[in-house]
Amino acid sequence: MYRTHTCGELRLDKKGSTVTLAGWIQRKRELGGMTFIDLRDRYGITQLVFNEKTPESVSQNLKTLGREFVIQVIGTVDERSSKNKNIPTGEIEINVKKLKILNSSLTPPFTIEENSDGGDDLRMKYRYLDLRRTPVKNNLLLRSKMSHLIRNYLIEQNFAEIETPDLMKSTPEGARDFVVPSRLNPGQFYALPQSPQIFKQLLMIAGFDRYFQIARCFRDEDLRADRQPEFTQIDCEMSFVEQEDILELFEGLIKHLFKDIKNLSLNDFPRLPYYDAMDLYGSDKPDIRFGMKIHEMTKFLKGKNFKIFDESEYIGGICAEGCGNYSRKQLNQLTDYVKRPQIGAKGLVYLKYNADGTFKSSVDKFYTTEDLKKWAEIFGAKAGDLILVLCGKKSKTQIQLGTLRLEIASKMKLTDNNIYKPLWVIDFPQFEWDQENNRWHAMHHPFTAPKDEDLPLLDTDPGKVRANAYDLVINGVEVGGGSLRIFHQDLQAKMFKVLGFTKESAEEQFGFLMNAFKYGAPPHAGIAFGLDRLVSMFAGLDSIRDVIAFPKNNAGRDMMNDAPSSISDIQLEELNIKVNLPKD
Ligand code: ASP
Repeated sequence: MYRTHTCGELRLDKKGSTVTLAGWIQRKRELGGMTFIDLRDRYGITQLVFNEKTPESVSQNLKTLGREFVIQVIGTVDERSSKNKNIPTGEIEINVKKLKILNSSLTPPFTIEENSDGGDDLRMKYRYLDLRRTPVKNNLLLRSKMSHLIRNYLIEQNFAEIETPDLMKSTPEGARDFVVPSRLNPGQFYALPQSPQIFKQLLMIAGFDRYFQIARCFRDEDLRADRQPEFTQIDCEMSFVEQEDILELFEGLIKHLFKDIKNLSLNDFPRLPYYDAMDLYGSDKPDIRFGMKIHEMTKFLKGKNFKIFDESEYIGGICAEGCGNYSRKQLNQLTDYVKRPQIGAKGLVYLKYNADGTFKSSVDKFYTTEDLKKWAEIFGAKAGDLILVLCGKKSKTQIQLGTLRLEIASKMKLTDNNIYKPLWVIDFPQFEWDQENNRWHAMHHPFTAPKDEDLPLLDTDPGKVRANAYDLVINGVEVGGGSLRIFHQDLQAKMFKVLGFTKESAEEQFGFLMNAFKYGAPPHAGIAFGLDRLVSMFAGLDSIRDVIAFPKNNAGRDMMNDAPSSISDIQLEELNIKVNLPKD
């Protein structure tokens, strides 16, 4: 037997017994003729002690031992004289009688402890060493536990776990496909799935009724912070259901996770139609841990000869509680913030409700004191508050206000990471206008069913069509989304038409799906959750990278094995691929 116990297991009740442990040397300390070793494995750390009673054969080997050596020891469990309250095994230590070196180790390039001295790149290059560190290891164990809970919950609800192909047909789903050349079919390519969307719908047509899969998805997008080219979805689909059934069942799943992992009983999730979310929060993924809702001021502020307001389609603002004492400098900083190209506001108007009850605004000369007072009333402002106002095109200005709202909330420290406020955002628009290509885009995807009552608008005013689509948002992060699906061939064909497909291109790309719809497709609907996001939220992390065992860096590279890399000329030839790289 390699070991009788793990390094996280022994307590005082085993005092006096002989045990065998195996693990890595985290630290070795010499102290007045005694040597202490912290022995680590996945389960914890146990202190080993070597002293004058240690057999000569063992102490001889002590000198050679270094950090990250793998050893096996046999010894007796002793009570420690000075106990370590910080670790569960802190009351005992092992008095070593036998020692076997199972493997040596080079000195690791960074310290493998709770806090490491290694920079990001170094830790990515030696990811297998970083994964030995407790916080990183715990993230993956949390992920494993969550996957397990999710599986159990869904299986209990009669879902069947079914795998779908990774090598599939390239179909546009919003992002760019990763493609794989086919050797046997020269000049032809598979695509890696952006999601198993079409397959799960085909499984409903096949009659599986309830499907799920913890599925790897691939999207070849320009990398932004917190994006990975491959990521994992909890992908689900159900037949003979309405939106209500889906929201209820999956709200149950999320509540189950919070109860089991965080011992939190969440209240029922509020539901907010998309346009209300935009009106009130300037975002389709609002953070509702705090209020600071947007108030529209268009009617009230227009017509007072302030040209910029008078010429604006929309005027709106937020009230930052207790920020009435912001200095000129702070207000200038906020103005610069909203004028940054990423946000794009033209300027920022403020109204200070001073502590003494007077008002001061940046547009005083256009409004009477009475006006300013009313203005403050609309926001429910109190003395000491600061109202910030933006104007311009409605949808753009709302988004700018939403961004400003988050900025102020972060300055005011209103976002407590131990509080979780989920909500469903529902009734998304079916389409968004793609300015660049001069055509409509499906906001969710082309298989989403429009609201029955909006069907006539498909011909007359597509921009007004609402979809049966829903997102689950927690603390301003979209963790899942889905929709009721189109299940009639003629409506699907029409949808492709509105999206600018010719009959031939729709047939070429999606003919198999539309054909399948002709063989008794049941009403169906589904949802997918981002597992990486969900786990990082539960782990209290900002980035999904730390909950992925072997992530890519911001340039999409695997720093450890240096992928992507070139392939040999022979491989290229077999694949019928000619590479013309510019010479530098
Ligand atoms: N396939 C969709 C997505 O990846 C989710 C769904 O509609 O079920 O966003």
